[in-house]
Order: sequence, then C-alpha cells, then structure tokens
Amino acid sequence: MRFAACSATLALCWLPVALAYSHHYGSSAFKTEDIIVRDVAIIGGGSSGTHAAISLKDKGKSIVVVEKKARLGGHTETYTDPSTGIPVDYGVVFFHNNTIVKNYFNRFEVPLVNSSNGDLRSGDFDFRTGNPVNITRPSPEALGAAFVKYIAFLSQYPALDSGLFLSTPVPDDLLLPFGEFVAKYGIGDVVQTFFTTNQGIGDILTLPVIEVMRVNGLSLTLQGASNSLVTTARHNTSELYGKAQNELLSADSLLLSSEVKSSSRTATGVELVVKTPSGKKLIRAKKLLITIPPRLEFLHPFHLDHRERAVFTKLINFGYYTSIIKDTGIPDDVMVWNYAQDTPYNLPQLPGIYLIGPNGIPGMKNVYYSSQRSNATFPIPDSNVKADIVTTIKRLQAANPGQFNKTDPEFVVYSSHAPFYLGASPEDTKKGIYAEMYALQGLRNTYWSGAAWRAQDSSMLWKFNEEVVLPQVLAGL
Ligand SMILES: Cc1cc2nc3c(=O)[nH]c(=O)nc-3n(C[C@H](O)[C@H](O)[C@H](O)COP(=O)(O)OP(=O)(O)OC[C@H]3O[C@@H](n4cnc5c(N)ncnc54)[C@H](O)[C@@H]3O)c2cc1C
Repeated sequence: MRFAACSATLALCWLPVALAYSHHYGSSAFKTEDIIVRDVAIIGGGSSGTHAAISLKDKGKSIVVVEKKARLGGHTETYTDPSTGIPVDYGVVFFHNNTIVKNYFNRFEVPLVNSSNGDLRSGDFDFRTGNPVNITRPSPEALGAAFVKYIAFLSQYPALDSGLFLSTPVPDDLLLPFGEFVAKYGIGDVVQTFFTTNQGIGDILTLPVIEVMRVNGLSLTLQGASNSLVTTARHNTSELYGKAQNELLSADSLLLSSEVKSSSRTATGVELVVKTPSGKKLIRAKKLLITIPPRLEFLHPFHLDHRERAVFTKLINFGYYTSIIKDTGIPDDVMVWNYAQDTPYNLPQLPGIYLIGPNGIPGMKNVYYSSQRSNATFPIPDSNVKADIVTTIKRLQAANPGQFNKTDPEFVVYSSHAPFYLGASPEDTKKGIYAEMYALQGLRNTYWSGAAWRAQDSSMLWKFNEEVVLPQVLAGL
C-alpha cells in the first residue's frame, strides 16, 4: 500500500531531489525586483550570522541575511521594563575582553564595562525539596590552583582555541567523562564554577572533556580567572543587534521574518527560494553561509548531501530555557542557587532550575533552566518547563516561610533556547566526527558557522568567523 501511494505521487516524492539537482530556478517565475543577487547569502541572523554579515559588508562584499524572526540577535534577548525603563539581558551577557570583541562593539558605539557582579546575598537550596543545603565551596586559593593545572592541560592543545581541530587519534583525555578527568588531574575544584559558567550542557560530569573544553577553553578560563570578562555598559546587548539590523536593512541586506523554502546548491553557486512578508524572493549568491543549528528538520530546504546528513544526524542536544518572573516571594537582592547535599560536587539534578537571580528590576528575577541530554530537537515541552519553574518556586516558599513570601509567581517573559547545545558522543568524536564536520566547509559552495561548529560563546564564534570560516568564504569571491 505504501509503495503504491508513493508511486501514484511519484512526481511529488521526487520533487525535493529534483530541486536539489536542478541548476537554476526559472527567473521567469520571479519579477526582476524579487531577484536578489549577492556575493554571500547568510542563513540566521543571531550572533554568528550577524557578525559574519557585518564583517563581509565591511570587506566590500554584497550580502543578504535571511532571518526567521522579526529581529536580529538570536539567543541575545533584552527585556525593558515599561514602568522603570530598566533593560535586562536575559540571554547573552558576557564577552571576552579581546580585540575582536572590542572592535565589534566599538563599531556600533556600544560601550563595554567589566562584568563583575558586585556583592549579592545568595543562598543554596535543594530545589527538589526546597530545603537549605550546606555547600562546601573551594577556597579562592584552591580554585586558583585548580585553574592553573587546567590551564596547563589546555595549553597542550592550542589549536582548540580556534576550533574543534582534533588531531587523530583523538587524545584519550579529551574523550573521558569530565568527572573522571577532574579526578585524574586533581582539579575537582573547578567543577562548580564550570557548571555555573557553562549552563545548558546538562550533567557536566558525564560530558566528554572536549565538549566542556569547547566553552571552558583557554580564552574563557583565563578571562574568568582574571575577572576580565566584559558586558555592555547599558545592560542591553540587543543594542548592538538593533544597530546592525538598521544598517543591514538600509543596505537592502536583510530579510526578516523570512525562511528558505527550497534551494539549489552547486559548485557554481547557490539559489534560494525565500518566503518573506512581501512575497517569494529568489536569491542568487556565489556562496552560502548557514549559521542556524544544524538539525535535520531545520535544514530540510537545503536538500542535504549524504555527507552533511551523516554528520548532523549524530549531534546530540540540550534544551536551555530562560525567563523573567515577577512575584517570586524572594527578596530583590537575593540570588538563590540550586544545589544538592547528596550528589558529587553538590551539583543539582536536571532537568531543573540553575538559579533564580536578581536582575535590577524591583520585584522581578531571572530564572535559568536546563534539560538533560537528548536526541530530540525540543527535549521538554515549554508547558512542562514553565510548570516546573512555578512548582519549584512555590516549594521554596513553602519550605522557607521566614525567608520567602507566599506568592503566585508570574512569567513576564519566557524563552526556549532549544535546541541549545549540539555536541557529539565520545564514540563519534573518537571516530572523527569533528574532522568530518569541518570537511563539509565549502561543499556545494556552502559554509557553516554557529555554536554547533565552535561553542556557545559569542566571542569565540566571532574569532571562529574571522580566523576560520570567513577566509574560506572570501577565497575566490
Ligand atoms: C540564556 C543564554 C545565555 C547565554 N549567555 C551567553 C553569554 O553571556 N556570553 C556568550 O558568549 N554566550 C552566551 N550564550 C551562548 C549564545 O548562544 C552564543 O553566544 C551565540 O548566541 C550563539 O550564536 P549562534 O549564531 O550559533 O546562534 P543564535 O544566536 O541563536 O542565532 C541563530 C539565528 O538563526 C535564526 N534561525 C533559526 N532557524 C532559522 C531558519 N530556518 N531560517 C532563518 N533563520 C533561522 C534564529 O532565529 C537566530 O536568530 C547564551 C545563550 C543563552 C541561551
């Protein structure tokens, strides 16, 4: 029956394949004003896509960015409280204090400042029960000593500061579960710090070392250890994306609320049929740069090659969720951390909340939540995440009547960042998945950037763009 159904609609069954290999979409189907001819088409206008667009534009190349949402910024999200006018970043906040970052923010006249938090009151609770826990944190000296050892280890792999350039055979240490690795090198004192600075990667102790090192690499570890990280002085990272958006729109280089519906990628160039709010457009570009998470269901319109499909199928995902909540019953100046008395390094059980922290707006808190590792693109339904957050806050209130008031917490904003962290299993890493992934660069004039290719770290993505991806895109343009 199934075979018969497919035969009856043979033309439809094969349409995507035919489109993939057809050389050109007929121009006659598009009015002249709906045909966009550019050097580079960029898919996704988040951190890596926006940076690549501005960098290529500054180098004199013509570009067009196709962004699904009505704004640039991706995981960068800022809420501005209507009554106080206070902006709060509840997405990307911190950047490395380096030349690439400073030049980029300077270009848009967005000032940066050191990111140190100042003094906050904080408390540790087991969010499963609501009860306070007594956490042993390493002394500054012990933490410093562990950092020194970790930095010495990282220094053996300088190529990993630019990308996932793993020599073969992949060193066994990089494949170890991070928990075994810290025990082997006597650096368990870094675990709590990495767990909090590298959120959204689930159970850090079972994750292969290479996946932790992607974010907690040499640059971030040195910056963190020396308190050098920076943030925007006006606590509004979206300002950079707003300015980039205006610039790209006025240069006819941005299609917002738009998505590629079909494509042809060949050795001579790419063609994209894009659905936009003002109708279908045909983009003809010499090269294509894809920066969206490489999940098969998102890449369907690009008619993947078997080599691309083989790599992306293996990537594993985490969900990361953020929100601003009012009426938590927790005093404005108090940060509440989720820890456990009975687990290694007191790490909390996930899925769950990492922390409930002050955000500068009276009566409101930022809340950060993560799933465990999953093969699903969207590991937990948003309704479950929201329900769990509210139940957890109420549990904290009930268990600590002297400290927290009984209230009905309400979401001011909620954002799912799933799929968040895409990484590989140690088995696939050992078999060379990252070498296979990087070998895709340039195949059918398609180049790749974004967190899955480097790290959930904007500063490192901009470095990856500048040093690894864009030189390849620019070659021959
Ligand atoms: C809550 C949170 C806090 C973080 N804090 C920091 C931090 O302080 N510092 C830091 O360096 N990093 C931080 N990160 C990591 C951050 O994700 C990376 O820095 C960076 O944003 C990743 O960039 P990207 O380009 O890969 O993805 P994104 O920035 O998410 O960009 C991807 C873009 O592609 C678009 N898109 C998706 N599908 C399509 C499609 N089919 N067609 C067109 N467009 C599409 C999306 O809408 C999005 O705009 C944080 C992440 C989260 C979620």
